[in-house]
Amino acid sequence: MTHRLVVVGASLAGLRAVEAARKSGFDGQITLVGSEEHLPYDRPPLSKAYLDDAEPPTVEFRDEVTLRGELAVELELGIAATGLDTDSRVIALADGRELTYDALVIATGATARRLPGTDSLVGVHALRTLDDAAQIRAALNAGARTVVIGAGFIGSEIASGARKRGLPVTVIEALPTPLIRAVGEEMGSRLARLHVENGTELRCGAGVERLEGNGRVELVVLSDGTKIRADLVVVGIGAVPATDWLRGSGLRIDNGIVCDENLWTGTPGVYAAGDVANWHNPLFGRRMRLEHWTSAAQQGASAARNALNPDAAKPYSTVPYFWSDWYGSRIQFVGSPDADEIVTIEDRGDRLTALYRAGDRLSGALTLNGQADIMKFSGLITKRTEWGDAVRFAESRCSARATA
Ligand SMILES: Cc1cc2nc3c(=O)[nH]c(=O)nc-3n(C[C@H](O)[C@H](O)[C@H](O)COP(=O)(O)OP(=O)(O)OC[C@H]3O[C@@H](n4cnc5c(N)ncnc54)[C@H](O)[C@@H]3O)c2cc1C
Repeated sequence: MTHRLVVVGASLAGLRAVEAARKSGFDGQITLVGSEEHLPYDRPPLSKAYLDDAEPPTVEFRDEVTLRGELAVELELGIAATGLDTDSRVIALADGRELTYDALVIATGATARRLPGTDSLVGVHALRTLDDAAQIRAALNAGARTVVIGAGFIGSEIASGARKRGLPVTVIEALPTPLIRAVGEEMGSRLARLHVENGTELRCGAGVERLEGNGRVELVVLSDGTKIRADLVVVGIGAVPATDWLRGSGLRIDNGIVCDENLWTGTPGVYAAGDVANWHNPLFGRRMRLEHWTSAAQQGASAARNALNPDAAKPYSTVPYFWSDWYGSRIQFVGSPDADEIVTIEDRGDRLTALYRAGDRLSGALTLNGQADIMKFSGLITKRTEWGDAVRFAESRCSARATA
């Protein structure tokens, strides 16, 4: 019998877990533990509207009254979980207290990679948390000359935000093309054009040798000796799953917490969700760890329902989906970028549609400003649509637009 649900990680997946628990009729005790002081908040705006020179948007999902009152959630914020004993079902907290659980959902997400040896330099940031975003916003407000290290989605959004304010920005990417892992080489290079067209200096195949400055960052020195002046350096070199606190717990950790298709860790009562979960996605027949908003939200809800009612557990499967906003355009991707072939169906003005083929099936789709189409491609991937049919469908959508 489950009396006590504990959710560790008070962000998107953790919040959706407690909401789903109450929605399913669970009336036992729920405790939500989060290492940040803040109430659960939304991260995507942090690299978008939050960086604008207008009033920043509210990013909290729910207020404290709703969480403590309506949802009857005990909040333990500003306190990290530091250990887990799965035999006695006890979680250790940083302040020395212990929490017992009948069911546990781990939703500790991921933490941003930092550049070693740069912690003491003022003006060097990663962007993962609201506190990071506030510091970056303040630097942009002061008219910073920005260098972004890493041309991934978050780094690119920051560059876009700086350009929107008319500020100079350089993006440095170690690989010859940005976003190879996310969308493949050809499409990575196509998207990189957006930087150039919008006045961002993009330097690919460039290594960062060191950052220089007297207390505050002043220069980024590249491996070829080039020196770039910077008041603000944002390091966007990816994130790692937040699993350090689980050392010694016996849970299997391999690029996140290894879970089955029900988001179950294999240890009684313990489930995982969101960016920290490396789960078996039945739709693709393999394990995946995603760092996408939509899957984190859905997994949080799914993990809580399964944790509270393991006998009726339902697999969580999905077509991965993410979006990113650059220079007023929306990039969207569904499926998997691992492809035998990528075919551009449409590339006109500010619109792009590209399909990804694996074997004789559609495996992925990338669009630029294709909001009306992207979920249709997701549906085709779910239905394991044959490649020829998918191409014909995409072509018909594009030609209908061209003649409209
Ligand atoms: C700036 C930014 C922009 C993004 N934009 C997009 C976008 O445009 N589209 C998209 O699809 N996705 C986007 N994402 C990704 C999306 O926000 C994440 O996939 C989502 O936040 C994952 O939610 P989560 O709850 O799994 O993990 P997280 O949001 O990482 O939250 C985990 C929480 O757990 C806490 N925690 C960690 N360890 C402990 C511990 N030991 N004890 C207690 N608490 C702990 C952390 O402090 C954190 O608050 C963006 C992410 C960022 C950072």
